[in-house]
Amino acid sequence: MTENTKLPRRDFIKFAIAGSIASGCPIDHALVPVNDPHPANIEGEHFAICHQVRDGHSFPKPDPTRSVDLAIIGGGMAGLSAAYFLRDKDFLLLEKEDHFGGNAYQEEFQGQPYSTAAAYDFRNSPCDHLAKEIGLHLLPIDLPDPTIDNGVYTPDTWNTGLTQLPYSRCTIAAWKKFSEDMLKIDLHKQINDLDAKPFTELLAPYQCPELNRWWDAYGLSNWGAVAEDTTAFIGAVDAQYLIKGDDSTRVILPGGLGCVTHKLLEVLKPKYGERLQGDATVVSVVPGANDVRITYDQNGQLTTVSAKFAILATPKFITARLVADLPAEQKQAMRRMRYAPVPMINMIFDKSVYRKGYDNWCPGNAFTDFIVADWTIRNQPGYHPKYEILTFYCTLRESERATLLSDENCRAFAAKVLSQFQKLLSEFNVDPIEIRLYRRGHAMMMAVPNQFTKNRFIASRPMERLFFANSDSGGPESLSMEAVRISQAAAEWATLNLQGKRTQAQSTAHKALNAFVY
Ligand SMILES: Cc1cc2nc3c(=O)[nH]c(=O)nc-3n(C[C@H](O)[C@H](O)[C@H](O)COP(=O)(O)OP(=O)(O)OC[C@H]3O[C@@H](n4cnc5c(N)ncnc54)[C@H](O)[C@@H]3O)c2cc1C
Repeated sequence: MTENTKLPRRDFIKFAIAGSIASGCPIDHALVPVNDPHPANIEGEHFAICHQVRDGHSFPKPDPTRSVDLAIIGGGMAGLSAAYFLRDKDFLLLEKEDHFGGNAYQEEFQGQPYSTAAAYDFRNSPCDHLAKEIGLHLLPIDLPDPTIDNGVYTPDTWNTGLTQLPYSRCTIAAWKKFSEDMLKIDLHKQINDLDAKPFTELLAPYQCPELNRWWDAYGLSNWGAVAEDTTAFIGAVDAQYLIKGDDSTRVILPGGLGCVTHKLLEVLKPKYGERLQGDATVVSVVPGANDVRITYDQNGQLTTVSAKFAILATPKFITARLVADLPAEQKQAMRRMRYAPVPMINMIFDKSVYRKGYDNWCPGNAFTDFIVADWTIRNQPGYHPKYEILTFYCTLRESERATLLSDENCRAFAAKVLSQFQKLLSEFNVDPIEIRLYRRGHAMMMAVPNQFTKNRFIASRPMERLFFANSDSGGPESLSMEAVRISQAAAEWATLNLQGKRTQAQSTAHKALNAFVY
């Protein structure tokens, strides 16, 4: 973590970077100024050991010193919800970070929560149901997304906005025609065809650079890929969803979906704290005839636990390297999956800057969109926040991943985001008091062609003692509700297996993977 470093012409803005993607991690906490009166309360990802696993380092595997019925590997939304669903069982959750939440992790600035990735959920989704069950009432966002482009704010992009966008008549006509045509697509009937080709094939007939640019931004932010890398299926799904106004079911609280993992921990920790082990990086998972042996590093010490069954809630690019004796085809399918690098930037202002839209699309910039962190509570009686926090989504192309390797590049990137933001509208020409950048090297599963209808089934196939429960087992894009849905199935699978009901367990897993969520 580095702080108080220079942004061009803005030396007074405090700057903090968290997370890293390279060896050279973990973050050097010695770099935090000791006498800082307002130390930035940030955390980051630790990759040093993971990178050794990636590079094929073989760790010693000591004999087991603990036996449990169930091991859960990874403490993101999927792992934590699996722990919640299995809380009355003999479980042990191992998470490599010193904090839990994965991509649904909230941080806060002087008591005001903000998201470091996952933004919102949908009313009545499995995640919303879980939130309710643990005492969180997610509030409606209640406003379709605006677009800010060419110096103009256009509300409700895909409905009333279609007549107001600051583009030529020809361009507007192309957007309208695209909208009409997208609604004619039968998603259920055409799923296989659509999933096999890139979204650019659906965009091509309109020959409209503004349309492509908008969807490039939307795709990067929502599923980690520009149109040419995106499956036409998810493109059509989301086009219909926006055009029909289905986004009216979106819900959230400040902190983004990190509010759910935060609450899950609050609920689980008092009673099951010892079963939730942070700073515990799993380095190998060896399924055997009678148990699964899981070896992990904690504070430099390797420990092995023996579990009857294990739930792998880690993303597949990591899972592929952890599990011994994966069938070759399954390993290949896991490794075929692609993940986009995502630096997330939170800007903290000590004055109000913008309250006109929750999720604001800004095509053609280094960031794709930005959200207002406290949007759903902003009008509550008695709510007078000291700070306004804007969260910028800045997904990079895979070829740009190396940008995140150096703090200097990160600072330059943040400076670019700030400068482009300030040019969007004249009222944005305000400096934040602090900028926080959270970097993740492989954050978001990319919704590429054939992943949803083909590759995922091979990559996520359960083994006799292993269930693969990360949200990337679902789809077609990476969603928290999928993490919860799949982990609910994993909990059922584990319970049935513990009762000796193998066939029913297999059928539960099969149904969960085949469930069609759109
Ligand atoms: C920028 C961004 C924006 C998003 N926006 C939304 C949104 O608005 N709505 C939505 O529904 N979803 C959104 N998502 C997707 C959502 O965040 C994910 O689907 C969900 O959080 C995934 O949870 P998970 O537990 O499956 O995986 P992860 O969050 O990837 O959790 C995996 C966990 O495993 C841990 N781990 C990894 N390796 C090891 C190891 N060797 N040993 C032990 N632990 C390990 C990791 O540290 C991590 O905590 C977004 C994602 C990103 C990146």
